[in-house]
Amino acid sequence: MKKIIIAIDGFSSCGKSTMAKDLAKEIGYIYIDSGAMYRAVTLYCLEHNLFNADGSIRESELKSRMKDIRITFRLNPETQLPMTFLNGTNVEERIRTLEVSSHVSPVAALGFVRQAMVEQQQAMGKEKGIVMDGRDIGTAVFPQAELKIFVTASARIRAQRRYDELKAKGQDVSFEDILKNVEERDRIDQTREISPLRKADDAILLDNSRMTVNEQKEWLKERFNEAANE
Ligand code: C5P
Repeated sequence: MKKIIIAIDGFSSCGKSTMAKDLAKEIGYIYIDSGAMYRAVTLYCLEHNLFNADGSIRESELKSRMKDIRITFRLNPETQLPMTFLNGTNVEERIRTLEVSSHVSPVAALGFVRQAMVEQQQAMGKEKGIVMDGRDIGTAVFPQAELKIFVTASARIRAQRRYDELKAKGQDVSFEDILKNVEERDRIDQTREISPLRKADDAILLDNSRMTVNEQKEWLKERFNEAANE
């Protein structure tokens, strides 16, 4: 069985990371959540006053500070799941709030932010044996990936899943706000100029609207076995 790169792209909150994480754990691959990196940059912007009152980004200031933003991942020894660190501080919880979700897509649309993140992501995949999820993994980060999946589900189903997740964490959120956020991120991610969200021509399409987590897991494992044994 050869070591491969697995790229999982798709819309917001469609369960990409759950399936990517589970697969990586099972097959002993490294898992990288590229969205967490854009979220960490966004958290940095929020904490350093890099948003103007109208929500726009103070771009030149962020650009000059990119070199001060260091994003790393460490495995949680108890859960064996990756935690995101921003300049040495664990920000795994803080990057998942609706406030970060509401600011992340304009940050991720900036060319210099993408360039910095893509360079780091490509370095992480040098040795292969990696599962990475995001929006542009199969199209821009690893166009040569041996297995590419593009995941989608209806916006309402995705918003419900995110709502349940945040509620379970004790966050006070409204379903309508989350639905609006999911639709707005879809719009910005698909229409941005640099590396817009789109299915790579050679990606396998998965609509998981009516699939359970377990069914997805099995489906992905089969695709992995096919690709790694080719
Ligand atoms: O995957 P997640 O929803 O956590 O990603 C947060 C945001 O980061 C997305 O809405 C998108 O704007 C951006 N993103 C991106 N490219 C990636 C991963 C995420 O632009 N590869």
